[in-house]
Amino acid sequence: MSSLEERFEAAFMPNYGVPPVALARGEGCRVWDADGREYLDLIAGIAVTSLGHAHPALVEAVSTQVATLAHTSNLFLHEPEVLLAERLLGLLRAPGRVFFANSGTEANECAVKMALKYGKTSGRSYFVAAENGFHGRTLGALSLTGKASIRDQFGPFPFEVRFVPYGDADALRKTVTGDCAAVFLEPAQGEAGVVVPPDGYLKAAREICDDTGALLVSDEIQAAIGRTGHWFAHQNDGVLPDILTLAKGLGGGMPIGACVGFGEAGTIFAKGDHGSTFGGNPVSASAALAVLDTIDRDGLLEHVRTVGARFAEGIDAIEHPLLAGVRGRGLWLAMLFTADRSAAVQAAAQRAGFLVNAVQPNAVRLAPPLVITEREIDSFLAALPMILSEAQ
Ligand SMILES: *Cc1c(COP(=O)(O)O)cnc(C)c1O
Repeated sequence: MSSLEERFEAAFMPNYGVPPVALARGEGCRVWDADGREYLDLIAGIAVTSLGHAHPALVEAVSTQVATLAHTSNLFLHEPEVLLAERLLGLLRAPGRVFFANSGTEANECAVKMALKYGKTSGRSYFVAAENGFHGRTLGALSLTGKASIRDQFGPFPFEVRFVPYGDADALRKTVTGDCAAVFLEPAQGEAGVVVPPDGYLKAAREICDDTGALLVSDEIQAAIGRTGHWFAHQNDGVLPDILTLAKGLGGGMPIGACVGFGEAGTIFAKGDHGSTFGGNPVSASAALAVLDTIDRDGLLEHVRTVGARFAEGIDAIEHPLLAGVRGRGLWLAMLFTADRSAAVQAAAQRAGFLVNAVQPNAVRLAPPLVITEREIDSFLAALPMILSEAQ
């Protein structure tokens, strides 16, 4: 163990364990560790560094803004946050209102409070969420997270959540009644291993919420901002939720979260109902504007669809006894294995110079920067049979 790793272990709470690599710098889709070893970054800080590392547009936006005005708090407004809210609503092509937070879980806390207030004023008492779903680590978002190992020891929770199997529209229809305040769903489940629901699932959820009056919350914290080849993942399904949450890829590496309420959901909060000191701060808002501008200017949505399809087809074409298949959308993929060997695959990939994420015991997640080139993808595909053999 290097001394940095020992110091990490001694100084940090044990919740993360000691991460396997200490990263020192990055450029584009490449990162270098503390010893100068180079890696191709195929996980992008969990689908966050959408433009890759040290992208000139992000560097320029952040440097200029931090040198001009770094923070105002919500006591004062500023132009970057207004531009960003308007820009998001324009991309969403629907009337709505925006709240800015600093992370994914906080974007969901905002949605939870909106749904709680909606439930109180309309006599609705419970929430519905999906088994194996992930919505964050703070208590409201954790209540909705359908994974016993990270949830159960922190209960009881402040409101009732009924869990349904993900992708099963009939189960959703049975569970959502006129007493349900909100249904929280991911358009595809990232932490579960990029699980894509059957076609029509989100549409069915929309109909069920319309029939019962429950709010539909689409948690696109991992899925949005180009990851699937669309600005927003619900655009794959042609449905509009009542509430949308965003974070990860939005700031390109700077911390920012957003909660958008559409139509009447946009004005559930009254003055004083919610707030955040750092939320929508000028540096993060400027970073997010640079991300959106660059995706637009460089045609990255189209690029994600093209190279994402090539990536998935390339994995699919590999015959290997450990490889069971590939799933996902755009540049958001999971390789599935015939045995619980994902940790070994991650380690073998790292030795070969590729950073990937063992998201489930039998699945490795791939979520590279949106700017990844065909040549970079091909370099991983060329190395993959050897990586798999080493991990077997
Ligand atoms: C990452 C994630 C969150 C939590 O975001 P943090 O920024 O880690 O708090 C919530 N929902 C989904 C779908 C996520 O992928």
